[in-house]
Amino acid sequence: MPKPQKILVDTENKLIQINWQDGHESVYDLTYLRRACPCAECQPWKEGVGKPGESPESVLKAVGELKAVSDVSAVGGYGIQFQWADGHSYGIYDWGYLRDLCPCDECTAKRRQAL
Ligand SMILES: [Zn+2]
Ligand SMILES: [Zn+2]
Repeated sequence: MPKPQKILVDTENKLIQINWQDGHESVYDLTYLRRACPCAECQPWKEGVGKPGESPESVLKAVGELKAVSDVSAVGGYGIQFQWADGHSYGIYDWGYLRDLCPCDECTAKRRQAL
């Protein structure tokens, strides 16, 4: 699993930047991450409910806002968890999942190939 070297949370611009140990850099929009929340409530298909990739309406409209940098916390060395301003906090984003979500051109192109 990829591991981060440095994580920078920018609550003002609603961004989070991760510098990975392999030198890759990922910059995520917080709303993008909020909507990609991996918990069973946001991704019900994991529990066999609904169609894969079909997020509930509330998730599609969710906005990724954090009140403070401290609303991002480390989880057992394998990922991070967000305490979103909308009160949601169930999802644990492990490093592999975050790396898979990397929105940079290079990773987007790789994902397209994988499909
Ligand atoms: Zn969730
Ligand atoms: Zn990338």
